[in-house]
Amino acid sequence: MKCNMSFNKLKFGSTIGIIGGGQLGKMMAQSAQSMGYKVIVLDPDEACPCQYVAHEFIHANYDDQAALNQLASLSDVITYEFENISASQLEYLVSHYNVPQGYQAIQILQDRLSEKQILKESNCNIAPFVQLTNTEDLNDAISSIGYPFIVKTRFGGYDGKGQVLVEKAADLKDAKALIEVEECVAEQYLKLNKEVSLTVTIGANNQITYFPLQENEHRQQVLFKTVVPARTDESIEHSARNEVQKLINNVHFVGTFTVEFFIDKSNALYVNEIAPRPHNSGHYSIEACDYSQFDTHILAITGQQLPQEIELLKPAIMMNLLGKDLDLLENQFSENPEWHVHIYGKEMRKANRKMGHLTVLTEDINQTEQALLKAFEGRAI
Ligand code: ADP
Ligand code: MG
Repeated sequence: MKCNMSFNKLKFGSTIGIIGGGQLGKMMAQSAQSMGYKVIVLDPDEACPCQYVAHEFIHANYDDQAALNQLASLSDVITYEFENISASQLEYLVSHYNVPQGYQAIQILQDRLSEKQILKESNCNIAPFVQLTNTEDLNDAISSIGYPFIVKTRFGGYDGKGQVLVEKAADLKDAKALIEVEECVAEQYLKLNKEVSLTVTIGANNQITYFPLQENEHRQQVLFKTVVPARTDESIEHSARNEVQKLINNVHFVGTFTVEFFIDKSNALYVNEIAPRPHNSGHYSIEACDYSQFDTHILAITGQQLPQEIELLKPAIMMNLLGKDLDLLENQFSENPEWHVHIYGKEMRKANRKMGHLTVLTEDINQTEQALLKAFEGRAI
């Protein structure tokens, strides 16, 4: 396969092309630059966060073939910051340029249905699901899964967008409205004890490096905070790695990706979804680990050796800063030097838009958590 053959080590001073210039692209670029690489980014938004840190910026839509070709011809390696780029265009780039991540993972994971199918084929533990091609199929969901279930669009959902929770017959109306617009899947809505995620990097020679297990709390389906190490039995981390192993037997990953998990009330672990790129729940690693999830991603795609183990230097809590959190907390940044504040540089501040995050390193997770929750208290849920 082209992606394995082209695994030459990239020399310092080589150029990394990144498709997508949001906060993930920006933090990727910063890691790349600290290792001596140049960065070119392509993004449809002229004011995207990465624009100001990239050596060159191509202002174009993700499906602009000429612009993608331009990016590729100027770059020694291509990577991406998000999964919703066209798999066929990525396939074209893979066959003409150096794209070590390939296109298979993107192709499978950008569709929730094929994502669930591959997880099932891989023998991973997942919540029961059914495909919803039309509104009639909701009857299958009711008979085979039963209430409550959650309907999710197959394509393009993030941060809970494109999802309807169906707890009772009266909620079917909203689910039908969603299915009339887009094909969906329905999955059992689990009673959660906890959510955790595992960030993993796979290198050129299939070397695999795990970050510590992350404990995540979502509010209104958007990540609110991440605590590391996750406060779970050790066996959960072991089981999570096992699930990842099953998956990578079937999907070719290179670089950093994250698997999100549910833990239900009986302590059973389910794979929720996979992000084939650095992930919000891995941001703590910038300060808390000896390598960040962005560092290991750059090492992987430039064909370098990965660290065997990622060391957690200190337990950490990461809190997302949405627009409404910035309104509340901005004045407190200077009074809390232990908050490592990252502001992404998005021009438009919106109440529910991710504008940044902060990480606190601490030997006393519970006390720090209480202090942070108090600081975020005035936040509208
Ligand atoms: P997204 O792509 O928007 O992150 P997810 O499928 O991860 O979509 O859903 C977002 C959040 O919604 C999850 O992290 C979880 O808190 C909640 N959620 C989604 N599906 C389920 C489910 N089947 N059971 C319980 N909670 C769920
Ligand atoms: Mg998710």
